[in-house]
Amino acid sequence: MQPILKSSKLANVCYDIRGPVLDRAKEMEEEGHYIIKLNIGNPALFGFDAPEEILQDVIHNLSAASGYCDSKGLFAARKAIMHYTQEKRIRDVRLEDIYIGNGVSELIVMAMQALLNSGDEVLIPSPDYPLWTAAVVLAGGTARHYICDEQSDWLPDLNDIRSKITPNTRAIVIINPNNPTGALYPDNLLREIIEVARQHQLIIYADEIYDKVLYDGVTHTSIASLADDVLFVTLNGLSKNYRAAGFRSGWAVVSGTKQYARDYIAGLTMLASMRLCANVPSQFGIQTALGGYQSIKDLVMPTGRLMRQRDLAWKLLTDIPGVTCYKPKAAMYLFPRLDAQMYPIDDDEQFVLDLLMEEKVLLVQGSGFNWAQPDHFRVVFLPNSDDLTEAISRVARFLERYRKR
Ligand code: PLP
Repeated sequence: MQPILKSSKLANVCYDIRGPVLDRAKEMEEEGHYIIKLNIGNPALFGFDAPEEILQDVIHNLSAASGYCDSKGLFAARKAIMHYTQEKRIRDVRLEDIYIGNGVSELIVMAMQALLNSGDEVLIPSPDYPLWTAAVVLAGGTARHYICDEQSDWLPDLNDIRSKITPNTRAIVIINPNNPTGALYPDNLLREIIEVARQHQLIIYADEIYDKVLYDGVTHTSIASLADDVLFVTLNGLSKNYRAAGFRSGWAVVSGTKQYARDYIAGLTMLASMRLCANVPSQFGIQTALGGYQSIKDLVMPTGRLMRQRDLAWKLLTDIPGVTCYKPKAAMYLFPRLDAQMYPIDDDEQFVLDLLMEEKVLLVQGSGFNWAQPDHFRVVFLPNSDDLTEAISRVARFLERYRKR
């Protein structure tokens, strides 16, 4: 028999958060090992339950949710999203500008499929949430990574952005608040990014899925609220702010120069129709989620569980010799750096695999986030304090041995 090969379209598509190291961890679990997992940002797995009110709405409406709905989503859910864009000061968003999807993930893939021709380039942060790079490559485009500067609180380096623009550049992606770094972008930087987009006629894709997971009293600005003369696609959803990742519910909002983007918008709408609609039951949770009391605030205040875990994990990691780390202002991740002299790592995937095998702790290597040097890894600080303490002490033990190799 001839081997059955995957499509050549997939040749350069990677998504290492769920890659070979996770496969090995699953095998180890099947062999009976207990692995402490600091690898995936899935709040509900760690006792961060979705608000009861949202669950009740979904349950209550289940009997009305058996049919397909409008391809862009339920009216009431989109109306609530429209009101949310008004709260975030994004102007002139109408119901038809809102697309509900099976998570932000589906919408990222759709947005890139609708936009890109072979050879088109998209500016993507490095490090990134790797689905963005994967979606660009899958759509036949080229991901051009711009540097976020660790020395400047992981903010995008504007000079690097400018230097990577070519006549083929179509769009710039910003992930704010950021996964994996936990950075939050100030308004002046957002304005400068808009200016670059304006000059080069780029679409701005703003992934804002962590916009309510904020520490130390900081506030989040939607980049789309700062201008009308650029096309913006702003993405958000239920997975993180509302701890309902399994609902697979997200949305994309098109704003700004929509009048010049009719053809692109028609493409996006066609792709939305081709998948008929997003999961309907979970859309019944959106209106309640966005309105009223926001229970995430209890978790991110100084006595809240998420903030306490951020502080603990950051302290324990930065106490390890040769480990430095920006203290996240937002989201649920730490992205520490290993001193290259103390830890001469050639292959960071092998590094996290060795850690997994020797200490039964699962992390994701920095290269999984399109970070070029093998000197970072990502830690999810969702597990409880005891598990975080145990896991990071194992990382410290492993690193001590690594130094002596
Ligand atoms: N965007 C970012 C920055 C993420 O971190 C994630 C998930 O971790 C997603 C998008 C995917 O979100 P969803 O669960 O809505 O597909």
